[in-house]
Amino acid sequence: MKVAMFYGGKDIRVEEAPDLTPGAGEVLVDIGAAGICGSDLHPYRGANPWGATAGGGPRRTGHELAGLVAAVGSGVSNVHVGQRVGVEPMHLVGCGSCRQCQRGDYHICPVRGQRNGQRHGSAGFGEYDLAVAPNVYPLPDHVSLEAASMLDVYACGVHAVNRIPLKPMEYVCVLGTGPIGMTMGQVARASGAKTVIMIGRRDELLTLAIEVGAADLVVNNATVASVGEAVWDLTGGEGCDAVFESVGGTADTLAQAVEACAFGGKIGIIGAFWGDVAVAYRAANRKEIDLRWCNSYGTFHGVREYQIALDMVADGRVDAEPLITHRFPLTDIATAFQAADDKKASGAIKVVVQP
Ligand SMILES: [Zn+2]
Ligand SMILES: [Zn+2]
Repeated sequence: MKVAMFYGGKDIRVEEAPDLTPGAGEVLVDIGAAGICGSDLHPYRGANPWGATAGGGPRRTGHELAGLVAAVGSGVSNVHVGQRVGVEPMHLVGCGSCRQCQRGDYHICPVRGQRNGQRHGSAGFGEYDLAVAPNVYPLPDHVSLEAASMLDVYACGVHAVNRIPLKPMEYVCVLGTGPIGMTMGQVARASGAKTVIMIGRRDELLTLAIEVGAADLVVNNATVASVGEAVWDLTGGEGCDAVFESVGGTADTLAQAVEACAFGGKIGIIGAFWGDVAVAYRAANRKEIDLRWCNSYGTFHGVREYQIALDMVADGRVDAEPLITHRFPLTDIATAFQAADDKKASGAIKVVVQP
């Protein structure tokens, strides 16, 4: 089978790899769609917020995936061969026995994403990949594989609103117009917020945010004197009760989040920063802001957040389709990464590889 091998930075090669056979409790998935995530772009751009992977050498990756069940190992009963499925990525699998796993928070298991003592993740940028059966979710017929490849992104938004529950009278701010920002805005609007204000730097993306239901109001950060003042004007001087930071990298969005946040408000940080970030102490303290990190997703009140995301997509409460702008075959994965890396030049929102 063909797989993409990542040799570091922009060096990605499609190579031949041995076929995979599902072991007990495993499912072999014939990958139909694998999205390029912001977290795939950090190492592509030469940074790795999560530290280097063990062993150096080329790696396989791709954690936003969906496809068809090609084979199942012994003891698998939740899916059958030929079924269309979304896959919750393997780097979120916990040990199952620690306190965090026992209460359903496997995403913060201290040894998350390890198998046999080695770091282990999904490899959706290839023709086939293996997953453990509980991470494979049957899809309703009307949910496309492309849309399903975005369930990982939606689940991050679901987790963020479970971390910071939204109330019907609240103003919400989303910083960032990338796939995380767009999905976050859609999830926030579907979760009962009064008004979602999206902050970005490109008018065409802010316009799109309103069209796809990711925002009610928008602010172009490049054209206003201060994000804080712009948000204050739009909220009758209240600020936003919940602010979701969805940019990370090297951006100064945490400072903007503090500016946009109401007195007594909350900030959820979803973006992955390239290093330590400082918080404006005086303003954050004066407002008594509740700062909450949002790392991936797990379960909420006993329900898998990936399943909640799937239900939202299936019911049409959020709309993934208009966010998927670019599609490439596996053989063109290098071009796919270029399009995702320079979204301004390519016009891309979400880039999907179709192995
Ligand atoms: Zn992702
Ligand atoms: Zn654990």
